[in-house]
Amino acid sequence: MERWDWTWKQPYRALDPFFYRDSEPSSVSAPTVEWLNESLIRSYDWPLEQLASSEGTRLLAGNAFGSMLQPYAQAYMGHQFGHLTMLGDGRAVTLGAVETPFGWKEWQWKGSGRTPFSRGGDGRGALGPMIREAIMSEAMHAFGIPTTRTLAVVQTGEEVHRGVPLAGGLIVRLATSHVRVGTFEYAYHYGSDERVKELANWMMQQYDSDLLETPEVALSQFLERTLERQATLIAQWQGVGFIHGVMNTDNASIVGETIDYGPCAFMDVYDADTVFSSIDHQGRYRYRNQPAIGGWNMARLLETFIPLLGATDEEGVEEAQRIASMYERFYERAWLKMFGHKIGIEATEDDRPLIEALLQLMETHKLDFTNTFRALTEQEFEEAAFETPAFQEWKRQWLARIGEKVEQAVAWMEQVNPVVIPRNSYVEEAIDEAVRGNWEDVERWLEIVREPYTKTTLNEPYRSAPHDEEPFVTYCGT
Ligand code: AMP
Ligand code: MG
Repeated sequence: MERWDWTWKQPYRALDPFFYRDSEPSSVSAPTVEWLNESLIRSYDWPLEQLASSEGTRLLAGNAFGSMLQPYAQAYMGHQFGHLTMLGDGRAVTLGAVETPFGWKEWQWKGSGRTPFSRGGDGRGALGPMIREAIMSEAMHAFGIPTTRTLAVVQTGEEVHRGVPLAGGLIVRLATSHVRVGTFEYAYHYGSDERVKELANWMMQQYDSDLLETPEVALSQFLERTLERQATLIAQWQGVGFIHGVMNTDNASIVGETIDYGPCAFMDVYDADTVFSSIDHQGRYRYRNQPAIGGWNMARLLETFIPLLGATDEEGVEEAQRIASMYERFYERAWLKMFGHKIGIEATEDDRPLIEALLQLMETHKLDFTNTFRALTEQEFEEAAFETPAFQEWKRQWLARIGEKVEQAVAWMEQVNPVVIPRNSYVEEAIDEAVRGNWEDVERWLEIVREPYTKTTLNEPYRSAPHDEEPFVTYCGT
């Protein structure tokens, strides 16, 4: 029996078993913890020595839950590329939540073997995509964008078969909550209005308990907050050129964290039609579409609440539409704040043409998204495109808009314009190396992404994209 120096709780088990199935991780033969997130462990006041010990390895590999607590797989549905399907955790189990100075965090093992929701899948993961999730999620966190975190990357010592044999891996990831839009879709379609209400009340008790003080308006306010969090999250993604790649409703977290890193990637050259995912043939989840898809996902959430939002269906629809119409406002506000700060101003609607003109120039001249904003931040205009009359005119207007407040402008820009992003080709090469056994570059990247807003000798070689001949393609992380 393992004794851990911290306390688990399983708040999700207060819900009816309709919402989950008991499920054990299948043990793996020769696990090695290839990366342990020491800085996270320290910031959470968790015992590093115990997690780094051989006992910790057994826990992180999913080999030593013992009779401690019964892990579970969550049930959910999802609109995948627009089509509703029953899903559920097919390759993940959650053990419970542990307290941190930032609230309770759920521990989920992803790639831990088959569950009652696995359908035809093996429940496992390949090592490469797991490393990718670690790098991307830690980068998002360092950017200041809400996200699940990666506690550890474990090589299982076993192979997975994806057409070819690949090294197997799993991660332990942490989330404030793993409840998705798809969890509500499941409550609604497989359950009842009562199940939707049960889940919503539970979510409020856990994360928005202040709302329960005014029960008459609690549900509407809970939904408004959920929309605001989602809209703000997506505005932040846009601000760093992050393309999630699979914005299905099962990958939209209710608490507004970035979740389920699959074929996601950061944009190099600015092009609003950028899409990386090999399975996104229509470009449904391209950069330009992300805000609207976020709104579409929120509409799917709101639909499940219609019977609860009014005495009649008509009233319910009306209230759901009222809330839905707020999404765009939330998004516009967050976008203006983000892109305003990216050019050093507190933007209002009147500043939109100035911001959009810059994006247009970037698109015309095929400028790097990240580095263009850095050029503005540092006032170093090296690209030939910056010599063009159009850009010179833009710059004149921009400097006039900033006026005297240069110091404040630079301070804002330095907070939201990264020096370095995990650029696709570099990260891919590093992951390939790690899968071959050399972890040096992956470890370096996990260090680099920690400090994205400062120029360091560590990030110096990686500030520009290598010149690829082929457009970058990402594959679903299975
Ligand atoms: P994702 O693309 O990671 O959001 O996964 C979509 C759905 O497929 C979820 O229900 C996953 O649990 C399930 N899934 C993905 N990979 C596997 C796998 N290797 N075995 C079983 N289920 C999987
Ligand atoms: Mg998913």
